[in-house]
Amino acid sequence: MKILVINSGSSSIKYQLLDMDTDAVLVTGLVERIGDENGSLTNKVFPGTNEQSVTKMEKAIPDHDTGMRLAIELIIDPEKGVIKDMAEINAVGHRVVHGGEDFHQPTIITDEVIVAIEANIPLAPLHNPANLDGIRVAMELFPGVPQVAVFDTAFHQTIPAHAYMYALPYELYEKDRVRRYGFHGTSHKFVAGECAHLLNKKLDDLNCISVHLGNGCSMTAVKNGKSVDTSLGMTPLEGLVMGTRSGDVDPAIHTFLSRNKGMDIEMIDAMLNKESGLKGLCGMNDMRDIHAGIEKGDERAKLALDVQTYRNRKYIGAYMAVLGRVDAIVFTAGIGENDDIVRRESVRGLECFGVKIDEAVNAQRAKEPLRISTADSSVQVWVIPTNEELAIARETRFVLNGNQ
Ligand code: ADP
Repeated sequence: MKILVINSGSSSIKYQLLDMDTDAVLVTGLVERIGDENGSLTNKVFPGTNEQSVTKMEKAIPDHDTGMRLAIELIIDPEKGVIKDMAEINAVGHRVVHGGEDFHQPTIITDEVIVAIEANIPLAPLHNPANLDGIRVAMELFPGVPQVAVFDTAFHQTIPAHAYMYALPYELYEKDRVRRYGFHGTSHKFVAGECAHLLNKKLDDLNCISVHLGNGCSMTAVKNGKSVDTSLGMTPLEGLVMGTRSGDVDPAIHTFLSRNKGMDIEMIDAMLNKESGLKGLCGMNDMRDIHAGIEKGDERAKLALDVQTYRNRKYIGAYMAVLGRVDAIVFTAGIGENDDIVRRESVRGLECFGVKIDEAVNAQRAKEPLRISTADSSVQVWVIPTNEELAIARETRFVLNGNQ
């Protein structure tokens, strides 16, 4: 079975074609700067496991439709293409950021599903319209091929009301759907599944804390295989310190800025999303640059690292209290998979709660899952690479097999 995964953003489309019989990636691609004069497309084909051939195109790509058509021409070609005919694609899986309270599962896309995704646009004004662009283009290009929406929010629909409600006037929830939804659900679910496998447990028996640290960062408390709390909120701004997003702040700071600095709500929103987090603290939002800064004695870079890792530790402690028994803490995504210093600092001082890492093992680099806790640590600590495309493809296959 071959599944095409599409992650359509406002000015980009990421795609991947997977052979689900072997989990092999056949093609990956990225269309960038859609709508710009200097658009680009990079298409990588993996004909054998060790080879890859790359096609790069630099040209104006006016819209998603043009971008996707260019990609399809590279993927499907009777002579040179990885697949010879469109009929070889069994399904298309789409990443959709916000499913609101409507979607607890990946779902076959119908007209009603499109209407429901549209109805959630107020909750994700940047993401859902872009995701819908990808869906519409794929439905046109692959008529008759099942299209499945996989929602970032779906995994978190098991969070109980006491964890998803904000202590605000109740009407805001009833009328405007103001509540915690959480994001990165596909990634948290994927690493929780991998973790259960590695610990030789059934997913239903697994309690873990999944720590996704990339440009966006979030942590999820997983109890008996289900999300019971997560750090991102109604929008992807709450919780941990991210590359350019603040995470938790005192909500009265907004009022203070408005009253005392004359900032309007758009300016505050842009500041919290684009100029805060690691970048706000030290001017850099890539953890690699921050470490280079620390080496050179940049104190603000050190402060940014300390603020982020302290917040991580605080949330790990909170989720240990939420879960009671914790089988594992799992680090994933760009920083979580690569940065041993962030990992070490994020669990520093948690020995009294049974969390002990082996610093030598933690310092190792691996593409495969790696257990970094000591043999006598009562909570196992793991690095497990996330793979959102494979996760979306698996969810798509799950739906196609009649599980809906
Ligand atoms: P996204 O959230 O966009 O999917 P990723 O999960 O790819 O992001 O994470 C990107 C971030 O990972 C980068 O901004 C960088 O801070 C961090 N990162 C990537 N490689 C390394 C590395 N070798 N060491 C430390 N941090 C890294």
